[in-house]
Amino acid sequence: MSTSVENVVIIGTGCAGLTAAIYAARANLNPLVLEGPLPGGQLTTTSEVENFPGFPHGVDGFQLTQNMREQAQRFGTRFEQALVTSVDFTSMPRKLVLDGRTILTKTVIIATGASPRLTGVPGEKELYGGKGVTTCATCDGAFYRKMEVAVIGGGDSAAEEALFLTRFASKVYLVHRRNELRASKIMADRATTHEKIQMVWDSVPVSVEGVEQGAVSGLKIKNVKTGAESVLPVKGIFVAIGHIPNSKPFSPPLEVDENGYFKAAPGSQVRTNVPGVYVAGDCSDHVYRQAITAAGMGCQAAIEAERWLAEHGG
Ligand SMILES: Cc1cc2nc3c(=O)[nH]c(=O)nc-3n(C[C@H](O)[C@H](O)[C@H](O)COP(=O)(O)OP(=O)(O)OC[C@H]3O[C@@H](n4cnc5c(N)ncnc54)[C@H](O)[C@@H]3O)c2cc1C
Repeated sequence: MSTSVENVVIIGTGCAGLTAAIYAARANLNPLVLEGPLPGGQLTTTSEVENFPGFPHGVDGFQLTQNMREQAQRFGTRFEQALVTSVDFTSMPRKLVLDGRTILTKTVIIATGASPRLTGVPGEKELYGGKGVTTCATCDGAFYRKMEVAVIGGGDSAAEEALFLTRFASKVYLVHRRNELRASKIMADRATTHEKIQMVWDSVPVSVEGVEQGAVSGLKIKNVKTGAESVLPVKGIFVAIGHIPNSKPFSPPLEVDENGYFKAAPGSQVRTNVPGVYVAGDCSDHVYRQAITAAGMGCQAAIEAERWLAEHGG
């Protein structure tokens, strides 16, 4: 076990973790950032980001996180490639357990994100992020103006994504494996009665077409009742079957909701039930899930950590 004690360890290098690092480094806290399995976070899986303020002509997702990383490094942030597997927050300093070692720290910012669930059908992975398959209508809907798209799923998010996409797409197929939506009645009614949305009941995806051309050209589906297969002529596929928040190594002791998202303490977006331990970004936000909102929470968490250290001796 290392005997040195860090001021602040930030777990995750998506927009939340990197923004926290910029603020903590500029506050002279000498932060240590642990990268985890996806350096740069989810944004590295998409090519064009058009809604992050400051980039009037859009910016490549990988480049955006690379810029944030350089900005954090410029003020002295240290980066390590490491996966946190468990924690011990029962005493001070806090303990983070990584592959075979333990890091001691006074404060912790957890910014581990939430991984979108995918269907796993052939072609999906190859055409994910910028090539036609995505998991975010708010992020990518505007790329599909006057085109036909498909949404896969049957819950509230799927209904919401489908309704949002009607602003851009000429037609939205909502593909669901049952013959009624799991979504709340009001969302289900809105989706099923919308003139641009065509319900595709009792159907599951079989494959994403277009791998050879490098862009989605259709979604092959199968009717689970008849076994009949057909291809929806879509250019965009929005997978809306949920996210898995990366909260397992930290819960318990941190409190999570029924879907595994971290619960913030009352009156705060980033404080937790453990003093000096903060959460930021998609790991605790199942509502907005945007780069800018994750960055905003990273900023809040770093300022909270800085104040905690000032009060408790940092
Ligand atoms: C295809 C796609 C397109 C998108 N397009 C846009 C867009 O155009 N505009 C927009 O605003 N948003 C977009 N988003 C959403 C945006 O990417 C997320 O909201 C944002 O990345 C969330 O940032 P985060 O820092 O909370 O988490 P993430 O980006 O998910 O980063 C999580 C980090 O935590 C690390 N980690 C996880 N577990 C551990 C562990 N146990 N130990 C150590 N490290 C760990 C990972 O390695 C990663 O670095 C898109 C998302 C997707 C999937």
